[in-house]
Amino acid sequence: MKVAVITGASRGIGRACAERLAADGYAVVINYSRSESQALEVLRSILDNGGTGMLCRADVSDLKAVQNMIRKVMNTYGQIDVLVNNAGIVRDEYLFMLNEETLNRCMDINVKGYFYCAQQAALKMFRKKEGLIINMSSVSAGTAIAGQSVYSATKGAVNSMTRTMAKELAPYGIRVNAVAPGFIKTEMIDSIPDEKRDEYLNSIPLGRFGTAEDVANMVSMLCSDSCSYMTGQTIVLDGGLSL
Ligand code: NAP
Repeated sequence: MKVAVITGASRGIGRACAERLAADGYAVVINYSRSESQALEVLRSILDNGGTGMLCRADVSDLKAVQNMIRKVMNTYGQIDVLVNNAGIVRDEYLFMLNEETLNRCMDINVKGYFYCAQQAALKMFRKKEGLIINMSSVSAGTAIAGQSVYSATKGAVNSMTRTMAKELAPYGIRVNAVAPGFIKTEMIDSIPDEKRDEYLNSIPLGRFGTAEDVANMVSMLCSDSCSYMTGQTIVLDGGLSL
C-alpha cells in the first residue's frame, strides 16, 4: 500500500486531501500541530470509510519534530510515496503595521516548514528512486492582494523551491509539483470580514469560491499515473481569478 503524508490535515484543504488520497487507496498520515480533536475526527472518518491512516503531531517549523514524524511513519509503514506540503498560515498585515513575530512565524511555517518536510521525506523516497512532493502554494504568489505581502512572498518562495527541487530530485525519480489555489472555502476564508469576502467573490470569473475538494481532486490527479511526466510545475486552481 502506498503511503501519503499530508501536513496540516486536521481541517480545510489538508483534510480533503487526506480523505481523497485515503479513498484512492493510500495509507495516509494526518499531520497537525495543535488541533488534536479535529485530526482525530479526520482519522475516524477515514477509518469509517474503510481507509487506512495514522495521526502524527508535529510542528512543521521544528526540524526535530519533522524528523521524529518521518521516523514514526517509517517505523509504521516502512515507506513514503507522497508528501503533500500543505500546513500553512495566513496573517494579513499591511507593511506599515507588520510586526516581526508575524514575519517570522509565516516564514518559519510556510517556507522553512516546507523545506524541512521535503528534505526529510525525500531522504526516504530517494532509496526507492520514486516519490512525489506536492507543495501547496497560492494564487497570491502572483496576484497582488493588499495586506498579503508576507503571505505572497512565502508562496512565491514555494513556487521557486518547487522548480529547483524538481530539477535536483528528478535524477532520483522524485517529482515535485505545486498547486496554487485561489480563494478556497475553509476556515482561512471564513476569517475574512464579510465586506472583504464579497469583494473577493466578485473578482472570481467562475462566480464562486473553490472547495477543499476541488483542490483535493487536483492533488489526486497529480498523484495518478496520468501525470507521471510532470515535474516542477505550479498548477493554478482559482476559478479564473488570476486571468
Ligand atoms: P486551515 O484551514 O487554516 O488549516 C491549516 C492546517 O495547517 C491545519 O490543519 C493546521 O493544524 C495546520 N498547521 C498550521 N500550522 C502548522 C504547523 N506549524 N505545523 C503543522 N501543522 C500546522 O488552512 P487551509 O485554508 O486549509 O490552507 C491549507 C494550505 O492551503 C495553506 O498552505 C494555505 O496557504 C493554502 N491555501 C489556502 C487557500 C484558501 O483559500 N483557503 C488559498 C490558497 C492557498 P493545527 O491547527 O493543528 O495547527
